[in-house]
Amino acid sequence: MAEDYGRGVAFVDGAYVPVDEARIPLLDWGFLRSDANQDTISAWKGTYFRLDDHLDRFMRNIAKLRMVCPHDRDALKAILDRCLSLTGFRDAYIQIIMTRGRPPIGVRDPRRCENKFYAFCIPYMWLAPEEQRERGLHLIVSEIRRVPPESVDPTLKHYHWLDFEMGLFEAYDRGGDTVALTDGDGNVAEGPGFNVFAIKDGILTTPERGVLDGMTRNTVFALCAETNLDYRTAPLSVAALHDADEAFLSTTAGGLIPVTTVDGRPIGDGAPGPVTRRLGALYWSKREAGWLATPVDYNAVDSQKLRITT
Ligand code: PLP
Repeated sequence: MAEDYGRGVAFVDGAYVPVDEARIPLLDWGFLRSDANQDTISAWKGTYFRLDDHLDRFMRNIAKLRMVCPHDRDALKAILDRCLSLTGFRDAYIQIIMTRGRPPIGVRDPRRCENKFYAFCIPYMWLAPEEQRERGLHLIVSEIRRVPPESVDPTLKHYHWLDFEMGLFEAYDRGGDTVALTDGDGNVAEGPGFNVFAIKDGILTTPERGVLDGMTRNTVFALCAETNLDYRTAPLSVAALHDADEAFLSTTAGGLIPVTTVDGRPIGDGAPGPVTRRLGALYWSKREAGWLATPVDYNAVDSQKLRITT
């Protein structure tokens, strides 16, 4: 019987499986130690966005973690194409993941682990539902401190998310839709799956340190350059965010998402701001016109030759 990939597909140990059946071994340190790095890529209308940049970031990050990916870039692209072909998704949310893997039983030396590559592809996932995106998100700033950059390099795309998860509980308890964490100095850092931008007097500010160099954040910089908007990476105090004319979140899961209240206080007039709307619309119209796009190969061949051989 043909496999059912209608809800998504995963690539595990060289084989494609329906995403609900995908399993990783219990003893993989990606699970036991959060010893992992991922990259999240989107496809929209049958094209990947900034695929090369995502693969660059992924390869750079796993090198920092001293992991070895068993696939080269061409093979990674072929795996993604195959995932998209099997599901037929035109709009997709894709993660590529390296974990430390597991060492022989009884060994605690990370150098003895066999690193593992996984991927999955599900329908395109938005950071927030449409109704929230339309009215703008209610953002809560938590005093929970994001894992400090001195402890874990924030430019890795890692799974150290307990701070975010507990922040989300706090945000929901306080009537918010999502949460941004701070850096311990009263400045905003980032949130679960997004970077934060504030706009004041026509200038965009996004935190400079302690955050992921988000692909969408970089894309916003490019859109600013194209539309002659000033932007800067600088510390963003919580007070400055409260006092902003506009605010938005940037993420692969939706582009630019307006924020209309922070800690219950309206931002600007409490509706998504004009600059946010303009840049957000430009982001999607340029993507749909093929900007930085790589077409998905929906005729991607079977993966047997890509089997992990180690
Ligand atoms: N910051 C964190 C912690 C994230 O997990 C993400 C995305 O998942 C982002 C920022 C936004 O990054 P990108 O624009 O590459 O999706």
